[in-house]
Amino acid sequence: MTAADGVLVADQGLPRPVTPEATRNQAQRPSRHPVTSVADYLGSGRRSFSFEFFPPKTDEGERQLWRAIRELEPIAPSFVSVTYGAGGSTRDRTVRVTERIAAETSLTPVAHLTAVGHSVAELRHVVGQYAGAGVRNILALRGDPPGGLGSPWEAHPQGMSYASELVRMVRSLGDFCVGVAAFPDKHPESADLDADARRLVEKAEAGAGFAVTQFFFDAADYFRLRDRVDALGCSLPILPGIMPVTNLAQIQRFAQLSGAAFPDDLAARLHAVGEDPEAVRAVGVEIGAALASRLLEGGAPGVHFYTLNRSTATREIYATLGLDRAA
Ligand SMILES: Cc1cc2nc3c(=O)[nH]c(=O)nc-3n(C[C@H](O)[C@H](O)[C@H](O)COP(=O)(O)OP(=O)(O)OC[C@H]3O[C@@H](n4cnc5c(N)ncnc54)[C@H](O)[C@@H]3O)c2cc1C
Repeated sequence: MTAADGVLVADQGLPRPVTPEATRNQAQRPSRHPVTSVADYLGSGRRSFSFEFFPPKTDEGERQLWRAIRELEPIAPSFVSVTYGAGGSTRDRTVRVTERIAAETSLTPVAHLTAVGHSVAELRHVVGQYAGAGVRNILALRGDPPGGLGSPWEAHPQGMSYASELVRMVRSLGDFCVGVAAFPDKHPESADLDADARRLVEKAEAGAGFAVTQFFFDAADYFRLRDRVDALGCSLPILPGIMPVTNLAQIQRFAQLSGAAFPDDLAARLHAVGEDPEAVRAVGVEIGAALASRLLEGGAPGVHFYTLNRSTATREIYATLGLDRAA
């Protein structure tokens, strides 16, 4: 059997061929985590609160990440997710951090996976690693063009072009719950908002059970996307992503990169408090909590927080919303 026929996983240093059936069996093992499937959790009508982390590049970064994870663990999020990096060593760290969350914490991990630079056989291998670690939830993404945002997308010659293909593959490999990306401010490569909504519906039709949005600052943009998707007859739960603002220059850079509009009135409020990091964070927390409240009041199924591997601002927004008491 070749790697293309199945998934190769390392076992005590020896590569062992693993068939899709083996991946399926691993993904069906009982889970020690409270939320087995994010889609089932959302389907039960409960609100989801979740946190996103990224794989750190340094030992100090790794210590910071684990501090944040341990500080956020007591508020019992429905899941935590770990982003998938652009290259080899960052990707290994994503898998390592996700496996460690699965093995050593009470948190439900959602593993991100992108199609960038991977053949189909390699993608199956990574899914096999996640299955082996007991990870049942995967966020399936195309990833940004390898040449950087703005450059044309180029698929790996034996790889995939769109996230919908990855959704189908992951679903075919086992009893996985698959999430996908959504873009309230429109994906930078999409023709318009209608095309964007149709693509999201295609991902649901491919087997996605939930979506998480890019961060945004105006609740109306989220509701506009949700209503467009509803109008297409699709009830995919869409979790809004919130990035707590702790540094104005950083958030403006991120917003520019992701295509999310950063409103002038919010920038003015942050400018008004000057350089004091505590004061900036306090305003950022107010802005994040107001946005989360509007989204929840308008029927959003929960909130996903982009933590940037820090816990303070997210915990403060949580407390402002009274969610710490609910937990
Ligand atoms: C919640 C979230 C988490 C993320 N995590 C990561 C991460 O961990 N690592 C990372 O590298 N990036 C991550 N990203 C960024 C994401 O990979 C990029 O924004 C990427 O450009 C789009 O990914 P996608 O999965 O939405 O792709 P797709 O759904 O494939 O869409 C990509 C583009 O192709 C278009 N399209 C889709 N299907 C078709 C079709 N059949 N025909 C023609 N056009 C089509 C879409 O409209 C869109 O413009 C994340 C984004 C979000 C919102």
